[in-house]
Amino acid sequence: MNWPDLATVQAMDMADPLRACRARFTLPEGLIYLDGNSLGALPRDAPARVAAAVEEQWGSDLIASWNKHGWIEAPARLGARIAPLIGAGEDEVIVADSTSANLFKLITAACLAQPGRTTILTEPGNFPTDLYIAQGVAEVLPGRRVRTVPAGEMAAAIDGNTAVVVLTHVHYKTGAKLDMASLTAAAHAAGALILWDLSHSAGGVEVDLGGCDADLAVGCGYKYLNGGPGAPAFLYVARRWQERLRSPLTGWMGHKTPFDFGDDYAPAEGMKRFLCGTPPILGMAALDAGLDSFAGVTMAEVTAKSRSLSELLIAGIEQRCGEARFTLVTPRDPAARGSHVSVAHEHAWEICQALIAHGVVGDFRAPNVLRLGLTPLYTSHEDVWRAVEIIAAVMEAGAWRDPAYAARAAVT
Ligand SMILES: *Cc1c(COP(=O)(O)O)cnc(C)c1O
Repeated sequence: MNWPDLATVQAMDMADPLRACRARFTLPEGLIYLDGNSLGALPRDAPARVAAAVEEQWGSDLIASWNKHGWIEAPARLGARIAPLIGAGEDEVIVADSTSANLFKLITAACLAQPGRTTILTEPGNFPTDLYIAQGVAEVLPGRRVRTVPAGEMAAAIDGNTAVVVLTHVHYKTGAKLDMASLTAAAHAAGALILWDLSHSAGGVEVDLGGCDADLAVGCGYKYLNGGPGAPAFLYVARRWQERLRSPLTGWMGHKTPFDFGDDYAPAEGMKRFLCGTPPILGMAALDAGLDSFAGVTMAEVTAKSRSLSELLIAGIEQRCGEARFTLVTPRDPAARGSHVSVAHEHAWEICQALIAHGVVGDFRAPNVLRLGLTPLYTSHEDVWRAVEIIAAVMEAGAWRDPAYAARAAVT
């Protein structure tokens, strides 16, 4: 693609079937937000939804709300809403806890279901929490160990000792998207289970857990699903595994009959056994509003727009910012990437801070990656075009060299 003029990108936006979705969000005027892969934007209805849960439900109906407003069913109800976005059945997804906690539950459950197998297989450079949780599971389960193998060598590395393969579908740093169908088939051919982390996939690109015959998955509610900071996460267990797996966090909300208050644990049927404690209802209200932003949208449309935006961004970085010598980290093949574009630069931190000061919000991932997220529901081609022009100007003027941009913050 040759770098287009503004009128051309505006015509692309006019032809975009998702262009009306931007009005579903509150975004600050004059800001180009390219970080929806880290914290999704505020859905316009979220404040009213949360206020209603606080004032009308909690404030007026108090404890009766658990039944009257269906609070107790919120984890399953929201799970059923996420299911079509990831190619799952409505009874295969439930909303609970954090992605980290869900990883612990499912990696442990998978290991316990495969007692003769000792290895948790994952890739080096996976998202830290995925690695740390796998290491924690290996510490609490006797005889288990974590083995890391580069994704490209994964299929050949899965063997009769592999209990579970833990992979992130779209890599948080590089944006590379793994081939879910072939890696799942490779795991199954060796008799192993596979767990997909969909944190950077759900709501950003098409996912077909069912079509790929995937066993297990987890993912975040606050990234492309727009559920708000610290939103509850989700987990998926294929129907065929639900009765065979047991959560190691045997809390009362996962009990068959929690309100019998019996002394002995017995797991609920279906996905409810993967719940642990009382669901965070206010967070669930915000996530519900986040999921409303997908109304009438197909994930095929989201994927097509994501590709169109990332093609434009890559063309801009290469053709308009060539002097800056960014190295493209994200795969060039659109089928092999998710919905963000990453570039490496020795001064990525300073450049990222300078861009934020100039109204383009991306983020930095150590040691040298600038990450630019493209959220098809609210990022326009014009946003990408303007962002590229700002990046080009900041690089050309060397604005990032200002010492003010070198100071590091606690959260990157
Ligand atoms: C964002 C992200 C997480 C976050 O886990 P939390 O428990 O929500 O902090 C986990 N895994 C991946 C791959 C992520 O990108």
